[in-house]
Amino acid sequence: MEQTFIMIKPDGVQRGLVGEIIGRFEKKGFTLKGLKFITVDQSFAEKHYADLSAKPFFNGLVEYIISGPVVAMVWEGKNVVTTGRKIIGATNPADSAPGTIRGDYAIDIGRNVIHGSDAVESARKEIALWFPEGIAEWRSSLHSWIYE
Ligand code: UDP
Ligand code: MG
Repeated sequence: MEQTFIMIKPDGVQRGLVGEIIGRFEKKGFTLKGLKFITVDQSFAEKHYADLSAKPFFNGLVEYIISGPVVAMVWEGKNVVTTGRKIIGATNPADSAPGTIRGDYAIDIGRNVIHGSDAVESARKEIALWFPEGIAEWRSSLHSWIYE
């Protein structure tokens, strides 16, 4: 089953949005496979965002991600990468539809509350980076009530 890496960024933690965000993924029917509350350092954040290292906002982005604890998660389900990005909303909250996480809870692009993998392959890389110890093996007993 497909997996994605979701991270509630330091502003989402500080603003008390952890329960709300987890609830949206849970209520959709996705399965929580990994979760940790962690503060990462500069070199780790640079690795996570390595693809963006040439961007003018890179240093500010790294400062933002290391500015406090984050909630790192693995969620599993059919099409969870694409659907997860839809639940999150557009990168710039000004373009995020109401009803999405960024559309409902964020204003500035550099304080957009949450990260979600953009493809199955980047999800694989991000999960390996954030959860080198591996993730939980379990299957929800609700499975047959969610999937036909
Ligand atoms: N970002 C920013 N300014 C920009 C573009 C992106 O501060 O002009 C930040 C923003 O927090 C975004 C993150 O960099 O979530 C990663 O950018 P990406 O294009 O991968 O967006 P995402 O995949 O998070 O929607
Ligand atoms: Mg991205």
